[in-house]
Amino acid sequence: MNQQYQNRQVLLASRPTGMPTKKDFEFRDIPVAEAQEGQVIVRTLYLSVDPYMRGRMNDSKSYIPPYNLNEVIAGGIVGEIVESKTNLFQAGDKIIGMLGWQLYNTVDAKTVRKIDESMAPVSAYLSVLGLTGLTAYFGLLDIGQPKKGETVVVSGAAGAVGMLVGQIAKIKGARVVGIAGTDKKCDYLKNELGFDAAINYKTTKNLDQDLEQACPNGVDVYFDNVGGAISDAVMNLLNDHARIPLCGAISSYNSTDDNMGPRIQSKLIKTRSLIKGFVLSDYADRQSEGLQELGIWLSEGKLKYEETIVDGFDNVIVAFLQLFQGTNLGKMLVKVSDPAK
Ligand code: NAP
Repeated sequence: MNQQYQNRQVLLASRPTGMPTKKDFEFRDIPVAEAQEGQVIVRTLYLSVDPYMRGRMNDSKSYIPPYNLNEVIAGGIVGEIVESKTNLFQAGDKIIGMLGWQLYNTVDAKTVRKIDESMAPVSAYLSVLGLTGLTAYFGLLDIGQPKKGETVVVSGAAGAVGMLVGQIAKIKGARVVGIAGTDKKCDYLKNELGFDAAINYKTTKNLDQDLEQACPNGVDVYFDNVGGAISDAVMNLLNDHARIPLCGAISSYNSTDDNMGPRIQSKLIKTRSLIKGFVLSDYADRQSEGLQELGIWLSEGKLKYEETIVDGFDNVIVAFLQLFQGTNLGKMLVKVSDPAK
């Protein structure tokens, strides 16, 4: 065991029913494993909390295996190499990887990737230049294919994926309508990001009416981050040949009922719409293309991004649960430590 560093980690203690609680997780203090030949020790700088992690807490079949009980939870982490037993990295290098929710990860060097600090702050590799940026990019452009003058509606619009979807749709010349959970978020979308309209789904008296008003020419692309009643309302406005990238369904992640909604087959047939679920790993071989274009838009000032940063490793569960309360504007991250170099 490494004597220099003390580790602290978060394990899944029980499978949540409905909304998770702190009791479903356990913090454990243990020594840091010694790095073997070919391995590195990574100090966590920022840790990403993501809605999809809720699905991995269930014991059910999905595109990614469930977390095991009493094992460290894994997710996207940006860290600093503090010890290296390989010539691939040296101490001080900043990396990204799917690592454990812990202060230090001792891992094979080949499982992490060096990041370029000169291009953007390191946290951006967990947001606009990472999973959420690429999800917005490929979901919207590959499936949604917005064209100039078309109307794009995005739900979860002020979140990490949603705010990038809206901006990319604007870059492509579309009219963009966002749906989000507070007036502050809606104002931000319109005033800071140039969305054409934004609807607060929590305070609206009539979502159907507000949507109709915001989309006088119907909906050509619906980028669905949330599912549920919000999506039911948007589906009523689909134009012929609409495209619906199904990205997420956060409104049902903690549901314990059957969650039945209206049947939409006839609507899709009548409008000849395309609805397609996707996950980012479908685009694994095109990541560099996405990163390059996102990087260009960022450097040209065409894309803005936000991060809501919760301070301190011990607040990781709070930060994760806040995703379901909508506390975050942009990407929700936990800052765990400062880099030494
Ligand atoms: P996010 O939008 O930054 O955070 C989640 C947001 O969801 C919250 O801020 C909240 O905003 C909203 N929300 C929470 N509960 C809700 C509910 N019951 N109804 C409506 N909105 C609710 O998260 P993200 O990382 O960008 O992910 C957005 C969606 O994309 C999630 O569904 C996620 O699972 C999915 N996703 C999919 C992929 C993929 O590969 N397919 C990759 C990344 C993310 P409000 O204040 O607006 O309620």
